[in-house]
Amino acid sequence: MADAAISMITLLREAKGWNQTELAREAGVSQAVISRLETGALELTPDRRDALVKALDCPPEILEEQPTVPGLAISCLHHRRRASTMTVRTMRRIEALTHLTRLTMEGLLTGIAPQPQRTLVRDPIDLDGDPREVARRLRERWDLGDGPIRNLVGIVESAGIIVIERPLSTPGQDAVSTWPGDQSRFPMMLVTKGLAPDRLRFTVAHELGHLLMHDIPGPEQEDQANKFAGELLAPADSIRPDLAGLRTGEFRRLLTLKEKWGMSIGALIRRAYDLEIITDRQYREFNMRLGQMGWRNSEPGDVAVETPSTLTQIINAHKNIRHQSVADIARLAGMTEDGFRRHYLGENPQPENLVPITLGAAT
Ligand SMILES: [Zn+2]
Repeated sequence: MADAAISMITLLREAKGWNQTELAREAGVSQAVISRLETGALELTPDRRDALVKALDCPPEILEEQPTVPGLAISCLHHRRRASTMTVRTMRRIEALTHLTRLTMEGLLTGIAPQPQRTLVRDPIDLDGDPREVARRLRERWDLGDGPIRNLVGIVESAGIIVIERPLSTPGQDAVSTWPGDQSRFPMMLVTKGLAPDRLRFTVAHELGHLLMHDIPGPEQEDQANKFAGELLAPADSIRPDLAGLRTGEFRRLLTLKEKWGMSIGALIRRAYDLEIITDRQYREFNMRLGQMGWRNSEPGDVAVETPSTLTQIINAHKNIRHQSVADIARLAGMTEDGFRRHYLGENPQPENLVPITLGAAT
């Protein structure tokens, strides 16, 4: 998908999930005015600007911008659209949120150059390609050994992928990834806030699969990304002995494996099925039991919490090294100070398992 110019007003409006009529009501103008402002057919007078700034909660200066947003080439959205009940409006909201988050991150990287400790190399595959091979190659390239991966999020961030948690507020959409073709632009994952740690890990592994393997959307990509994630988190040769002889209902054993591998019981059952350790019938029975116990939505078992830290470190660098105030940083982010505090400073505790990224001055 080609890069496209889009009006900032449109982007901000869609990120709120509003249509033109709704924005018009919030801003106290007519829908025709919004429509013409968005196409640039009408001048943004100070009055209109003030009304929009209030309605959209944005700094006045960014309304004049015409951001070029990269096409969401790599994204779960494209396949899920067909498979799920996601409305066009929800999809546009998530796309707009993704674009805005990218613009915010690009702004926040002003004067700061993260220096990834691992190299990220695209490893595209076609329809018949084997995503498990991609996962094996990556484990080797990143020297991850063949056991459980601790702090997957930190590892992904150390490869220069920016992971941002924000509420996507829609079931069935855990994350979106983008990596514009232009290699100088960073890869980014937007992950919905509040996922259980095991689900976050699988989601991040899945998105990593998309970033590595996929360029243009295709119907087989969800399945490929899931296979990649399964093999990355639990390589077949390593987990096979752990799952050998698994019988339906052995949940205690699965709980132990959940802690060991940092994978949900649901994902472990799927792994056992993919590795042909359990039969079709067992797989169905297992899933029925999961449903009956209500474990599809909330599983027992402990997996260490992983928290993305790149954003926090970038913000800290602006504060501590560049001596910027929150207002300055919000300006770089293209957000109001209030909005910035709410979205990005609200609850950003220093994660315990922080993997320091090297932040150098940009040249
Ligand atoms: Zn996906």
